[in-house]
Amino acid sequence: MPAKYKTCIPCIVRPEPPISLFIDNHFVQLQTLNTRKVRKHLSSLYFIPPKCKLYFQAFFNISDYEWNFYFRLPFVVTMETRLQDFQWKVTHNILYTNAMLYRMRPPLVNSSLCTFCKLVDETPVHLFIHCKYVKTIWNTLTNLWGPVLAAPDTLSGKQIIFGDHKFSNLLNHVIIIIKQTIYSCKMKGCLPSFNMVKININTAKQTERYIMTKNNLSTFEKKWGSFCTM
Ligand SMILES: [Zn+2]
Repeated sequence: MPAKYKTCIPCIVRPEPPISLFIDNHFVQLQTLNTRKVRKHLSSLYFIPPKCKLYFQAFFNISDYEWNFYFRLPFVVTMETRLQDFQWKVTHNILYTNAMLYRMRPPLVNSSLCTFCKLVDETPVHLFIHCKYVKTIWNTLTNLWGPVLAAPDTLSGKQIIFGDHKFSNLLNHVIIIIKQTIYSCKMKGCLPSFNMVKININTAKQTERYIMTKNNLSTFEKKWGSFCTM
């Protein structure tokens, strides 16, 4: 709020009582108002949560802190724009699944069912978490590389979709690679396997090694750790 407004307005109504506005559930004197408070109040009146938040909040309990982390995560854990773009679409729930394509008019696919199991609607939650063909991949990851990646015994659905701020950058990166592998197989119409995941992780590793060799190889070694030699 421009300073001259604050000095002008009270002159009209002075001396008493000072004008107060009901903002943020309590009365605030006009003199103490600033642009930030007014803007925050007005935006809270008209704020509509993004559709991705409404969709995923139906499945998971996600705090504002976690949302902020999830929106930044793809740009922190990987240097590959292809993977950043993919995870950004997952977080914003704009990845094309059969359920979404079938809702379009006219429908762009013949069925909304999962490409792999053909039993349930293909939503992001089913495709990446609940489908029996992808569950084995997550189980193999935690059984095979759990100790190396400091991963928990089982990954929760929320951790699979978004990653976790408690995880290392490498583990969050690997989770994105696995989801991208699953999605790539869905697009090709073939079943995903852990061998495909290993190939894609190796490709991502080589890409980051190439990028970081030009800048700082120790950063690469610090991130990939024992995976450097695998
Ligand atoms: Zn399925």
